[in-house]
Amino acid sequence: MAHSLPDLPFAPDSLAPWMSAETFSFHHGKHHNAYVTNLNKLIEGTEFAASSLEDIVKKSEGGLFNNAAQHFNHSFFWNCLSPSGGAPSGDLASKIDAKFGSFDAFQAEFTKAAATQFGSGWAWLVQKSDGSLAITATANAGCPVRDGDTPLLVVDVWEHAYYIDHRNARPAYLEGFWGHVNWEFVASNMNG
Ligand code: MN
Repeated sequence: MAHSLPDLPFAPDSLAPWMSAETFSFHHGKHHNAYVTNLNKLIEGTEFAASSLEDIVKKSEGGLFNNAAQHFNHSFFWNCLSPSGGAPSGDLASKIDAKFGSFDAFQAEFTKAAATQFGSGWAWLVQKSDGSLAITATANAGCPVRDGDTPLLVVDVWEHAYYIDHRNARPAYLEGFWGHVNWEFVASNMNG
């Protein structure tokens, strides 16, 4: 199956000044688009030509894995973002409190994982197969579905995610992230 670049689920200028339309024109329009183009070239004529994106992420290696996982991770990341922020509610809020003690403690731990990921990568809130929550960070194109975990929330900490709007200040980018999380999407990813 041919993979395609998803539209952003919001207007590209609606997250400014935290994340500008200029950033989206590069990050979504060029970086993400290139991963999709490369993915389609790399699967042509291979055993992965008819596979779902998730199957490719689970089973491929090398350049194919990198492009497939970057397509998955970016599509997931856009869905995690929203012009307005908020806080989790219901079952997700209860699970966060049970695991981390409080929402503030969860935010601090997630922010630390994102801030201290050396070089390019991603910080995630995931749900393990036993239903418990965990914070993890992956390098480069790393993706938790590879380990059988269910991703709930992600933040991109590649420099291309923040350099136009925040230059080298990853902490400022992460501070603004908390005002732009789509908690309804995060909750919808829970596996029970
Ligand atoms: Mn990115």
